[in-house]
Amino acid sequence: MLTRYEAALAELTAQDLYRQTVTYRPLSATEVEDETGRRYVQLSANNYLGLTHEPAVLAAALAAVQQYGSGSGGARLTSGSHPLCAALEAELAAWKGTESALVFNTGYMANVGVISSLVGKGDVIFSDAFNHASIIDGCRLSGATVVVYRHADPQDLAARLAAVPCSGQRLIVTDGVFSMDGDIAPLPALAELARRYQALLCVDDAHAVGVLGGGKGTAAHFGLAGAVNVQIGTLSKALAAEGGYVAGSHTLIAYLRNKARSFIFTTAPTPAALAAAQAALRIIRQEPQRIRQLKTLAAELRQRLQAGGVAVLPGPTPILPLWVGRAEQALALAAQLRQDGLLVSAIRPPTVAPGSSRLRLTVSAAHTAAQLNDAADVIVKRWQEMGLPPHYQEK
Ligand SMILES: *Cc1c(COP(=O)(O)O)cnc(C)c1O
Repeated sequence: MLTRYEAALAELTAQDLYRQTVTYRPLSATEVEDETGRRYVQLSANNYLGLTHEPAVLAAALAAVQQYGSGSGGARLTSGSHPLCAALEAELAAWKGTESALVFNTGYMANVGVISSLVGKGDVIFSDAFNHASIIDGCRLSGATVVVYRHADPQDLAARLAAVPCSGQRLIVTDGVFSMDGDIAPLPALAELARRYQALLCVDDAHAVGVLGGGKGTAAHFGLAGAVNVQIGTLSKALAAEGGYVAGSHTLIAYLRNKARSFIFTTAPTPAALAAAQAALRIIRQEPQRIRQLKTLAAELRQRLQAGGVAVLPGPTPILPLWVGRAEQALALAAQLRQDGLLVSAIRPPTVAPGSSRLRLTVSAAHTAAQLNDAADVIVKRWQEMGLPPHYQEK
């Protein structure tokens, strides 16, 4: 019965692509402990501002559990919508400068529900080649024609917009900050093309919220908030909770509330998650110095690694991809760094293209300069021991 799955697993193992979960106990926003009690510096989380362990965020989550219970108990359209949902949506919309916002249970569900309900058969989606898997899944589920353009390449997008006929709706969709490369989408050029072709522009700000544009995301970073029709994001990274959201016009949000199946047919987020996200959002709005600290720490780490001959991809975000190339070398380096007390993830196909395996380091505002300086020294040493080259191979 299961031989074909056993064979598939054996094949993954042979290719160094077998995956398993490893248990680590979080000790703080930047340290974890394994089952033997060994401690590691966490350099692979998306906890950009370290707010998962911020006292005000924890207090808000605990108070919500005590006041409202552990679970939400039902879907929002059937069991009644929780006041924490309305409060968070109002604050998200105010922060983003949009008319309205809608909360989802995860960013994954937001992408799948939004894309698949906005376009369908007869419509055409133009999707960046490096977009997140949840965008890809939303595109597939929509039934629209999907045209993939070269990563962050408006010229290629322009050529495809001109070449592919569309009698329905065009949708351009991109990560704001690309999750595995850490670069920023060329939003001004995309917005101009969207305007010219009357395409909807949808940006996924999972790694941009709390990071770019004063924390408001990619559109704010470029001063283009009015040009992005659909701003999707997650509550699970810088916002330190769990969930997703979409921000946009009244019409967009009302439509999604009626049509997005991943919103309609699921139980609402838990009170704890909603309250934690709301508390985290308030801290981001009131304490912009945390974002500046994140920027400074990330730039310093990037600079140290570059100076030490490590092939770190350039970019202004706290995502630092170290270009290794082969999957088995990425795994070997990650394993060595674990021995050294650093938790760094090896990113392999199918998450990235074959031959572009890498280590992905993420910085948090909660890291100390000492943690990151020590990490840089260790990484430089191991990089040189393995004879890895100082430059990444252009894609
Ligand atoms: C993490 C991520 C998501 C998914 O968000 P979750 O809340 O974790 O489901 C969506 N898009 C991008 C670009 C991401 O990196």
